[in-house]
Formats: sequence, C-alpha cells, structure tokens
Amino acid sequence: MDVEIITVGTELLLGSTVNTNGPYIGRKLTELGYNVRYHQSVQDHMEDMKNALDLAMGRGDIIIFSGGLGPTKDDATKEAVAEYFHLPLIFDEKTWMEIQERGRRSRYVLTENNKRQAYFIQGSQLLDNPNGSAKGSFLSVEGKYIFLLPGPPNEFEPMVAQVLERLPEPEAPLKVSSLHLTGIGESHAESLLRELDLENDALEIETYASYSEVEVKIMGRGLSPVELEAATAKVSTLLKGYVFSDNSETAAETVVRRLQERGETLSFAESITGGLLSSMITKIPGASSVFHSALVTYSDDQKEELLGVRRETLASKSAVSREVAEEMALGLYQRTGAHYTLSLTGEAGPSTNTQAQVGTVFLALAYQGKLLHVEELHLNGSRETIQLKSAKNGLSLILQYLMEAEHGK
Ligand code: AMP
Ligand code: MG
Repeated sequence: MDVEIITVGTELLLGSTVNTNGPYIGRKLTELGYNVRYHQSVQDHMEDMKNALDLAMGRGDIIIFSGGLGPTKDDATKEAVAEYFHLPLIFDEKTWMEIQERGRRSRYVLTENNKRQAYFIQGSQLLDNPNGSAKGSFLSVEGKYIFLLPGPPNEFEPMVAQVLERLPEPEAPLKVSSLHLTGIGESHAESLLRELDLENDALEIETYASYSEVEVKIMGRGLSPVELEAATAKVSTLLKGYVFSDNSETAAETVVRRLQERGETLSFAESITGGLLSSMITKIPGASSVFHSALVTYSDDQKEELLGVRRETLASKSAVSREVAEEMALGLYQRTGAHYTLSLTGEAGPSTNTQAQVGTVFLALAYQGKLLHVEELHLNGSRETIQLKSAKNGLSLILQYLMEAEHGK
C-alpha cells in the first residue's frame, strides 16, 4: 500500500516551522509495513494543494494531509479537497455546538470564521481531536483512503491512531537491522556490498555516513527474522574488521565496553578538542573503570610542562605536527601509565596559529608507551565541526585498534 503525505502550511516552506508531522507519521506507517513513497509540502494556496492532490491520486493508495484546518481564511485544505472532487462542504451542527462549548470554556470570543471548522466534505467520517477544535476527516473516494488532519503536532500525533484503525492491512512489515562501522569510507563499504549482491525485491541495503562512522541498514520486507539475521550475518562477515556494533551501541559505548572486557585503561592529551573527547567518554555509564584521565594542554608551554613535549620539537615543527602529536601521546603514557594514550592536536580555525592549514589535525595513539599509529587529517567545516570530527576520529582510531586486538586474540 503506497502512502503519500501532503503537509500544508506556508510556514513549513519558509522554514519558520520545522515539519515534524510528515516524519512522525512516516515512521509510524513504515514500522507497520506501509510503503511511504512520497511526501509533498505545499503552501496554503488552493491551487498548490489541488496540484499536490492530483499528483498523489495518480500514484498513491493512501493520502494523508496535515495542516490547514484552522479557523482562518488561509487554512483551506478542506475547501481545496472538496473542490478537487467536486463535493460540497456540509455544515455539521453537532461540531458547531462543540466549538461553541469549547469557546465558552476557554473564554475566547468566537467569531463567524470559527464556523468554518464545522464544515466537512460530504461523505466524510469525522475524526475526533481531543486537543483542539479542528476535527479531522476521513474520505474514501475513487478507491483511495484520504485523511485530513490538523497541523499542530500535539493535535496531529494523537490522531494518527484513528488513521491506522481505518487502513487496510499492510502487505508485509519492514524489518530492519543495522551495523555500525568505522575505519572504512561509505563508498568503499558500498562497493563491497554491491559485490555481495544480496539485494532483491524483499531486501534492501542502505549506507549512511556520519563523521567517521558508517551505518549499514539491512531492510527486509516480508522476510522472517531468521532470513534477516542471515542477511545481516553475511554483511557482517563481509565487513569484518570494520563493524564495531550490531545494535544501537555508539562508538563511545563500544570503546568503554571493550576496554572493560580487556581490563585496560585510556587517557587523552587533548589540545584541539579541549576536553570534548573526554566528555564523550565520561557520558557513558561505567566509564570510570576504564577512563584514567585527560590533560587539556592547549598552550605550547603546557604541552612541554605537563606532557614533556620537547621545546625544540614545538619550535621546529610547531604544535600542529606529527612529531608533537607523537610526543604528546608518549609523554602522556609516562605520566599516566594508561594502556592506551591518545593525543589530538590541530587547527580548528577560523584563523591559524601555526603554519598548518585550518582543519589539519594529527592524532597519535600509543599502547603501553609504544606508538601504534599517527594519523594526519584534513577536515573541513566550522570550528565546532572540526573539533567534533577530530573527537569522533579519535574514537574511531581507538576502536580500530580495539577491534584488531580482539581479532588478534
Ligand atoms: P494548521 O492550523 O492546521 O494549519 O496548523 C497550525 C500550526 O501547526 C502551524 O502554525 C504550525 O505551527 C503547526 N504545524 C502545521 N503543520 C505542521 C507540520 N507538518 N509539522 C509541525 N508543525 C506543524
Ligand atoms: Mg495553517
């Protein structure tokens, strides 16, 4: 059953109101197995609404409007739908009494335009709105299921249940599993998946990249849980070495859990991230058993004093360099004795303090005082984004070594 959502409201297109109704009902219907294929958003213009409906009539089975049921003249969804089907609007005395009653209780003065909310398209079923005066309606025309719901989310969301109970059964619910990867780019992951050639009418695989992570969603329609699990296992085997979580566990949670399992500790020397990475780790319950400490050494002096970075290195290579990152990570081990020590130094911008370009970041990771890896990154974005990406890359680097350690076990 194909669904089309039409959200109505000029404010949605101007960007002054965030459209939450579309995604809300999209998620509900998808979970139940309906195929949400299109979502149109239109201004409060009769012509635009009628055009949207015309498109939807040509391709959808279920059409859901949100918005435009208010008492003011710009709210004209019912009028547009009525005109499109050449159906009259009929006055409903009972609704008008209820609106008047509501008006008395709220002490708002009712005006003639409130009456507009008591008119409904001929042949439609009314849908109760416990939180407002705009009732919804359900219309069955030309074999389509058409719903008109009010825009305010606190009215719209509770009314979705009344939509669901009027819909025919969906063909097959969508089942989704996901894998979280790090240490691999999205396009590389996708090309490997393409070679696996698992996709068919019942199975779809999508990748989503976010900073230094890639999520692979495996979506099956009409598959049994066992079949979905088998497909997920195949993907997991293919991408072994990159998968850090096969549920909703985040990178920071995985780092904490794996260190706990290994009985090992972690310490950071944060320059560019100013404590952001530590904050990501300390948010995780149980972090205290693995997180030893962090030093936020922002100035050259403190890199020298607290971490033992050599003055010559700072002078000849500058604070944003591979050499300084290395000395930070190794110096940190000397002082903390944590199993893993990670350093981050870089230029967050917008202007630079060293010769390095904005977005240049060095990460160094050591294990028991032995350097494992130094990474040079060239990140883009705002100052905040560069800091966030640096911290995420730090997590990713630790994760890769924890996974290697695990596979090497
Ligand atoms: P309505 O009277 O039904 O047009 O909607 C009234 C108010 O609901 C609008 O002014 C918005 O603040 C809010 N609203 C309308 N549509 C949406 C939507 N799709 N998502 C979130 N809020 C909305
Ligand atoms: Mg409106």
